[in-house]
Amino acid sequence: MHIYDSKTKQKLEIREKDIRLYVCGPTVYDDAHLGHARSAVAFDLLVRTLRAVGKQVTFARNVTDIDDKILKKMAESGKSLEEITSGYYESYKEEMAKLNCLAPDVEPKATECIGDMIELIDTLIKKGFAYQTASGDVYFDAAKDDKYLTLSGHKLDETVSRIEASEKRNNKDFVLWKSAKEGELVSFDSPFGRGRPGWHIECSAMIKKHIAKEGKYQIDIHGGGSDLLFPHHENEAAQTRCGYDQELSQVWMHNGFVTIGGEKMSKSLGNSFFLRDALAKYDGEIIRFYLLTTHYRANFNFSLEDLESSKKRLDKLYRLKKRVDMAAQIEDAEFKKEFLSALEDDLNISKALALLDERIQAANEAMDKNPKDKETKAKAAFILSLVTNVLGVGAKSPNDYFQLGVSDEERAKIEELIAKRSEAKKAKDFMAADAIRDELKKMGVELMDTASQTVWEKLPGV
Ligand SMILES: [Zn+2]
Repeated sequence: MHIYDSKTKQKLEIREKDIRLYVCGPTVYDDAHLGHARSAVAFDLLVRTLRAVGKQVTFARNVTDIDDKILKKMAESGKSLEEITSGYYESYKEEMAKLNCLAPDVEPKATECIGDMIELIDTLIKKGFAYQTASGDVYFDAAKDDKYLTLSGHKLDETVSRIEASEKRNNKDFVLWKSAKEGELVSFDSPFGRGRPGWHIECSAMIKKHIAKEGKYQIDIHGGGSDLLFPHHENEAAQTRCGYDQELSQVWMHNGFVTIGGEKMSKSLGNSFFLRDALAKYDGEIIRFYLLTTHYRANFNFSLEDLESSKKRLDKLYRLKKRVDMAAQIEDAEFKKEFLSALEDDLNISKALALLDERIQAANEAMDKNPKDKETKAKAAFILSLVTNVLGVGAKSPNDYFQLGVSDEERAKIEELIAKRSEAKKAKDFMAADAIRDELKKMGVELMDTASQTVWEKLPGV
């Protein structure tokens, strides 16, 4: 497996069999937006690919449940920290599951790791890499780390940060511990006084606690959105290097932004939208497949038009599934090798999907020519099953898939009409039966009579 490393700016080979992966997770103070979905889907594809090629993966993703924004929400709503964070955390998990993202193996919450963070901050102070100011805050002393900024290559704008640097020794220093101010709603005891941890320290402490290995690097792959490279990941790397005398990660992997109309999606620009709104309109699998179609490093430009056309591509997969028997499979070793090699090359999804499109077309053509071609069918079933496993799409029954978006009420009506039509046919009243078929067609429902029953599909856009 080769992955593009943001630090060395080249693809690095991951040779280890036992992979430790850590991805920075959500701050649970609000609903997940499309950027969260994109990151989750990108790293889910990574986990599934690594497992498919025989690696053992331990995947950790943290939950930031103590933060300024959470405290602000507490003050505004009068709710407890737990009430706010557990609600958003539960809906985050539900929404990611709807996108068919596998749950992480370890999902530590910041509030459960306060002791570990305090220990690391204490170590950093004792080793001379951190200092406490008069007001009680503890800062990381970036000047003491000669490798600081070697991860992101970020250039600090001294003129800007000089203004905000009040108690810091240097502009690039960052906070490890915020001392509790008067009336602070949540704070913890520590050797540096009551307060709470800064954001960056939690990932270093959690990685050490939950998934770190012995050796030069604690973990193999560290992931997150590209907006986290600086300062968040730079700071995580510095804390671990200076506190634990170990490099944090061998590879630093970043996914691109979600843009809308070419502009970065963000709350401050007012063009951000919640995943739950998208999920109310489209099935999670359709959104997942759409998010997968752009390479993870590229920016993802969201448009409804593209979503619809990616759905048509997914339809083709289900059309083929409808023609084969998933219980009878013959391995297509050539496809498996090519498909996985494409993904092993820094998750080259375009190549993997192009291979899939080709095979779908070839299988359909072969079956059109010879509908009884058992080998083609069994190989197609194998391909579909492999793709479902690795891409996380295609697991539904074709009938369920082609009935997506139909409300319970509508379904009851459709099924009632189909039952009436069956009765009419039994009574040899073919005019009445045809009239019902036409009525259903107007509702966007197409019927297919099989030997034993009538199945139906909802036509797109009707
Ligand atoms: Zn992090």
